[in-house]
Amino acid sequence: MKLGFHISIAGGFKNVYKRAKSVGCQTIQIFSRNPRSWKYKKIDEEDSEIFKKQIKEYEIAPVFIHLPYINNLGSADDILFTRSVASLIEDLRRAEKLNAQYLITHCGSNPDLEKGIKRMSMALNQALSETNNKIIILIENTAGSGNEFGYKFEHLQDILSELDPKRTGIVLDTAHAFAGGYDLRTEKGVNETINKLEKTVGIERIHLVHLNDSRVKLGSRKDRHWHIGQGEIGKGLEFIVNHPALKHLPFIMETPRSGVKDDLMNIAAVRKMIRNS
Ligand SMILES: [Zn+2]
Ligand SMILES: [Zn+2]
Repeated sequence: MKLGFHISIAGGFKNVYKRAKSVGCQTIQIFSRNPRSWKYKKIDEEDSEIFKKQIKEYEIAPVFIHLPYINNLGSADDILFTRSVASLIEDLRRAEKLNAQYLITHCGSNPDLEKGIKRMSMALNQALSETNNKIIILIENTAGSGNEFGYKFEHLQDILSELDPKRTGIVLDTAHAFAGGYDLRTEKGVNETINKLEKTVGIERIHLVHLNDSRVKLGSRKDRHWHIGQGEIGKGLEFIVNHPALKHLPFIMETPRSGVKDDLMNIAAVRKMIRNS
């Protein structure tokens, strides 16, 4: 299993490697630009070349790009929807320029769940047809706050069923799954959740686990990440990291951090949970 964190790109891509190394990353997730703005600059060639060289030299792989938060690929609003699709296409191109293998997108929101799901499939198909590269788009399950869809695995299955399986898959976020109603606190609960995934999206469509504990209770439909083993899921995460269906996957943490010590604490907590078998 490879472990990593979401790493800040502040000051340029050239700064990512040393941050990743200082907290023991074997894989990383980054934004390709400011996640809270529609504006962006072109990727600086010199900066990205340094980044790519470092990542290759130190064998940090895979590299996951996370789409900005402001996108809504299921939006009922045509202007926001069109903007979001354009933004997705831009990030697919940026992911290629950064030698990333994957682009992660959250599910969108729409007061009409079914329409939202249809629009999301449309958006992804459009972006895939307009970019002819090898980047795989991963759809992330959500906590289901507000009108967000994607908190049930069936929603992900409905979106994926319209898409090319070679260029799409999912990310399983443990904090989101728990907030969305999947009980991950016990071995039984984890097994039931994995069975559900198997019957819906299929295990082979999972490419990544976002390993996060949850600050909020089961089914609370709120997105609040917490430190590994210290939240409402707690020890249950041990059954996730050791599950035969998941343990070969990369695991990325998006846990709270006020400094390097938080990341070091969380990665140590995961390493302690891993059973050698
Ligand atoms: Zn996540
Ligand atoms: Zn989250």
